[in-house]
Amino acid sequence: MVLLRFAPSPTGALHLGGLRTALYNHLFAKKHGGKWILRIEDTDAARYVPTAVDDIKNALTWAGLPHDFGPGMDGPHGPYFQSERLDLYHSYTRRLLDSGHAYRCFCSPDKLAATREKLARTGSNATYDKSCLHLTEEEVARRVRAGEKSIVRLNDDNLPDRASPTDIVFGLLRDAHASLPTDPVLLKSDLFPTYHLASVVDDHEMDITHVLRGEEWLPSLPLHLDLYSCLGLEPPQFAHLPILLNPNGTKMSKRNGDVSVLDFMRRGWEPEGVLNWLALAGWGVHHENGRPSPPGTPSTQPPDSTTLMTLPELIDQFDLSSVTHRRNVLDPAKLAYLNKHHLMRSWQTEQGITFQARRVHDVVKAAFPHSPYTNVEYITRVISVLQGRITNLHDVPTLAPFFFVEPDYELPEARSVKRGLSADDYDHVVRRVILQLESSSPSTQSDIAVFLHDACEKTGLKSKVFMTALRHALSGMKAGPSLPEIIDVLGTERTAQRLKMALS
Ligand code: GLU
Repeated sequence: MVLLRFAPSPTGALHLGGLRTALYNHLFAKKHGGKWILRIEDTDAARYVPTAVDDIKNALTWAGLPHDFGPGMDGPHGPYFQSERLDLYHSYTRRLLDSGHAYRCFCSPDKLAATREKLARTGSNATYDKSCLHLTEEEVARRVRAGEKSIVRLNDDNLPDRASPTDIVFGLLRDAHASLPTDPVLLKSDLFPTYHLASVVDDHEMDITHVLRGEEWLPSLPLHLDLYSCLGLEPPQFAHLPILLNPNGTKMSKRNGDVSVLDFMRRGWEPEGVLNWLALAGWGVHHENGRPSPPGTPSTQPPDSTTLMTLPELIDQFDLSSVTHRRNVLDPAKLAYLNKHHLMRSWQTEQGITFQARRVHDVVKAAFPHSPYTNVEYITRVISVLQGRITNLHDVPTLAPFFFVEPDYELPEARSVKRGLSADDYDHVVRRVILQLESSSPSTQSDIAVFLHDACEKTGLKSKVFMTALRHALSGMKAGPSLPEIIDVLGTERTAQRLKMALS
């Protein structure tokens, strides 16, 4: 069985790049009937953020990516916080020290910095002069006994044969070892492991079969493979996922526009939309012809970056071998497209609309705190007539405020629509409809359509003038749902009141 892990460091909120890694782990695990572990890599006390673990878990829950094992989900291979696994790292460190693959270094941070500078001045690529490698066993034992602080380094003079590493996404990596620091640190002076040691030990101890992680860890791969071979262990397979780019070509990073997953949630994006967007950004075959593919594009076509897919569909079609190593732009316009179509899919049933109405209820209430028209049942009706116009659920209040409060006829859009109509025609239309509503009260959209047709004929005005005037009076806007839809949602009584207000 394949077993994967998503291993975030709790140094802050989960960002899009992290969610993409979690998603790909989930897709690969589920595609192959496997499982994945959520492992918290909390070995860097200085960067630890106490709220981060909950934040990461909440973001994964929102996205619909539940871990199989991990915090709150007991199973094999625990504990799942690296800070609770220190004994394990210490025992592997002892193994490496005993076999001569590692040694203790007592150099102070100041001394190390001075050494690095000196080496750089001489044009050397080395980052450490290995001075502590030559300490005698007695000397090391004496200094340890005396309580002197030390770190443990890998001895890169004593490594088993190195082959060029191979990555599932990036292929064969030539000269990959060249960029490694001299004798990388494995255990820090606070007795916490570095990321490298902890990651290798845990991936082995947890029986991880495939490591899927961000491209930023690709340069560490040769070091990790060195550690596996020093320890005589079989490494898992590795797949590094290419860096995501902003539309302007800059690297997506916490500092550079990559917002946290929970921000996407707060801003009303659908988890299905966000997952679809992230999944397809690196999905091998691209047809960037500028045209989005229609929803439900048959699965015989390779998905492009705007093919509408649910999580089960993504799992079904996921193929790690078609993941590109090209850097991919995460284009917000594609998220908007996908989100809109996921919403439309969710509205195919009445329950689907009610579910979304409940989700947006608080947003509508906050936008119109004094409106009596913000209950879920009413919002459900509003959503029904706004379908196809809503890109993000949070658009509901701004797309059609007139359903919740009286239109503000002084706003620029309302004024400009009104300027295009003669005052007489406007009055004529509005009065006609008011009059007609006194004697008839159509109750279905098709009755309302007949009613409006009749009213229009009676004014003798062109249908376009009639519709524009009536739309202005009812909504203050120049476009929106059809007039029968608007009147149906408002109800004939409220419609008549509003028309009277428009005249005053
Ligand atoms: N802890 C690393 C991070 O937060 C993950 C590295 C890995 O997956 O090996 O980016």
